[in-house]
Amino acid sequence: MVVTVSSEVLGSAGTGAAGTGAARSGSAGATGAALLADLGAAERATVREVLVHEPVPRAELARLLGLSRASLTRLTRTLIDGQILEEVGVELRTRTGRPSELLQVRSDAARVLGVKLTADTAYVVVTDLAARVLDAVEEPLADRRPEAVVAQLAATHASLTARHGSFVATGVCLAGDVVGEGRARTVLDSAWLGWDEVALEAMLTDAIGGVVRTENDVRALTEYLHWFGPVTGRDSLVLVTVGTGIGVGLVIEGRQLAGRHGRAGRLDHLVLDPAGPICGLGHRGCVSAYLTSGAITGAVRADSYDAAVASARDGDPAAVRAFEDAGRALGYLLGTLANAVDPEALVVTGDGLAVVELAGEAVRAELARTCRAQPGADVAVHPFDFRDWARGAAVTAVRHVLGA
Ligand SMILES: [Zn+2]
Repeated sequence: MVVTVSSEVLGSAGTGAAGTGAARSGSAGATGAALLADLGAAERATVREVLVHEPVPRAELARLLGLSRASLTRLTRTLIDGQILEEVGVELRTRTGRPSELLQVRSDAARVLGVKLTADTAYVVVTDLAARVLDAVEEPLADRRPEAVVAQLAATHASLTARHGSFVATGVCLAGDVVGEGRARTVLDSAWLGWDEVALEAMLTDAIGGVVRTENDVRALTEYLHWFGPVTGRDSLVLVTVGTGIGVGLVIEGRQLAGRHGRAGRLDHLVLDPAGPICGLGHRGCVSAYLTSGAITGAVRADSYDAAVASARDGDPAAVRAFEDAGRALGYLLGTLANAVDPEALVVTGDGLAVVELAGEAVRAELARTCRAQPGADVAVHPFDFRDWARGAAVTAVRHVLGA
């Protein structure tokens, strides 16, 4: 069992991927975006499969969609004429033994806006349908009240529309539960922003128009990793984010698990030591009592999380111990989730990744001790970048448009 830290493998869909998209930019955006909004279910499913598997041979695409070659030809002709898909060469060695044209989604088919809101910053990306970043902006939030944030996002949307043309959809993600559908979709209890029961989706739709999708940030990041990240196309995936809070995303049998209230996977307060320290909710020895940035900072009695990390790197025994305790908590959480899901991939990311750097051995040992489902389970570390969370917001918007 190995804990790998590999930005090479895991960052392959990383934020530096603007080149290909920008280079292929043309004038098709308006056509593709207009058509995309009016696609039937079969065309939407085709775009979806091409996005996830591109470049995909026609023969493989027909198999994925359960269509005859003739039916697929009719569908793809509409999408190619509509400047959403393009042919990019021929694969000679296919499963059927016959050459098959490769299809991909045109990078200039449509533009998508993705936003990750933190307590003080809006991380904004402009992407194509495949979440490749074409432009990125980072803005301090001038005022945290919902009306002010919506006004600021509307101004950003307007300035980026002037630069990139109209957006086929806008996605916004943030910490907190996002429940309901349509205009009733509501942000509940977003502690960092101090919001509760904010109808963000309706407010944004009124302010900027078009398709808007709001989503919990960990769920959005999970959607991104599932479709376009290093673990693309896996049927099952466990994501744990570590940082100010602990987040869990679960993909099971190809779909993200939501649960009845969109809260599946809330194991951030799983108890591992009933005699342990107390978390902010009053639990003794729960995962959050060891693993959050605040818990580590408190255990070290440091002025900040960064100071705690620096102390541990310097070998300060109290700091080293705090990170080892945090690593053990992370291993226990990962092992418990792996036991529940038996996933194809375990991924860790977040602004608290120093835990894995400083206490990888503790993570590994506790995972091995806890996880009976997969004695050899590996943990993949996805480098932390808020722009990936913004890409996640864009992906949720694309998936919303495509009915996926
Ligand atoms: Zn707790």
